[in-house]
Amino acid sequence: GQANPNRNADENIEENELTSMLKCMHHRIDQLIDVKELMHREMMKGLSKDTHNTADVKMYPTYVRATPDGTESGDFLALDIGGTNLRVLYVHISDKVVKQIAETRHEIKDLKKVTGIQLFDYVAERLAEFMEKNGLKEKTLPLGFTFSFPYVQKGLTSATLTAWSKDFEVSGVEGEDVYVLLQEAIKRRGDISVNVLAVINDTTGTLMSCAFEHHDCVAGLILGTGTNACYIEKLENVDIWDGDTLPPQQIIINTEWGAFGDRDADGNGGVLEHLITEYDDEINRSTVNDGKHIFEKMTSGMYLGEIVRLILVKLTKAGVIFNGNITDDLETKWIFKTKYISYIEEDTSVNNEACKSIFKKFGLEIKDEDCEKVKTVCSAVSSRAAKLLSAGIAAIVCQVGRKEVICGVDGSLYKYHPNIKTIMAETTKLLAPFMTVQYVESSDGSGRGAAIVAAVAQRLKK
Ligand code: BGC
Ligand code: MG
Repeated sequence: GQANPNRNADENIEENELTSMLKCMHHRIDQLIDVKELMHREMMKGLSKDTHNTADVKMYPTYVRATPDGTESGDFLALDIGGTNLRVLYVHISDKVVKQIAETRHEIKDLKKVTGIQLFDYVAERLAEFMEKNGLKEKTLPLGFTFSFPYVQKGLTSATLTAWSKDFEVSGVEGEDVYVLLQEAIKRRGDISVNVLAVINDTTGTLMSCAFEHHDCVAGLILGTGTNACYIEKLENVDIWDGDTLPPQQIIINTEWGAFGDRDADGNGGVLEHLITEYDDEINRSTVNDGKHIFEKMTSGMYLGEIVRLILVKLTKAGVIFNGNITDDLETKWIFKTKYISYIEEDTSVNNEACKSIFKKFGLEIKDEDCEKVKTVCSAVSSRAAKLLSAGIAAIVCQVGRKEVICGVDGSLYKYHPNIKTIMAETTKLLAPFMTVQYVESSDGSGRGAAIVAAVAQRLKK
């Protein structure tokens, strides 16, 4: 047909506006190398006694020293409190196989603002219910407890919460030992008995679960509601370690890298300030931990959907998409879920069905050209996350210093997003060019992993 020069000109202007608005999401390789180096520096600060207090990345020793050797066996319970669900599992371990016998799952989004007593009473109640249902109420089983928030440990069975993340603000738990809170809740009921052998972070569970099959797995990564990574460090490098130095002279370090880039108490900028966009600022203002967990807010599932929504609102107001037509839904905070990013980016149908049906829910009938723009926004936001995370992994790999590194990964965003895996593999290669990093998806790091840690702890006690 006949080209309409005016219309094309208009589209170009719109395209440019879209491109320029997304520019802040694209980082050059030299910027990513810089992020890698900044991360590495914070990691070193975290490990050293003198600088630990001012480090963003706390590098907590987990007290998990030994990885599975294949001789672990027995029946175990695993309790998993993450950002979205509470799960209880019953697993049987023997002959190098972890077999899940039963599992239950409960959404915990309504428990984010309760009191600590209420939260742990709820947890103990679900645990008792599970044991009852599976005929375990008369037994005393060993239990691994995955608690995926930042805490300091003084041993495998001690975990003092430093600060909530992932928009939790359960009162009376910060500064308290969650191992004790769980034990007390179980005692208040008085109808079940368990032997809690370890409190672990989900990254540790992921590493251990991966190490069950790949003995030389040295790192664990979570990209789900939140993000974090752990790795095996030589004890001699852990200045903050006060425990024994018997073999194995290694320990899993929980980096808590979500806090990378944090602002100080007065709101003064952190080390990532030069990469922070107006959308990130807006996210900070909408969360209970404003200025905290900066890296996590730029990269994880709890936040990416909201970043996309903020960009879409701005584009709409500028008349670049949706005919400038803003609906109340589109203006509703947190309405755009991160899983929509995955649905939209993976939809290759000519008529963009996934995208159209999502926006239909928000009262918008959108055209194919809008869908293309939405897709561009989604992929800018998810690629930024994938690249920043790769910079973090490159820092860990560099610290580990091995030519070949296996990193176990778990989390819904990593697993279900169509491109993040590929972008991370490619970017890690660019940022750690002399190393080979293999990302291995772990099956249920937080559940299975907790049982494995408990099994290793039990083996070492025998
Ligand atoms: C927590 C970490 C956790 C990560 C992934 C973060 O918000 O601080 O402890 O590992 O989320 O679940
Ligand atoms: Mg989890």
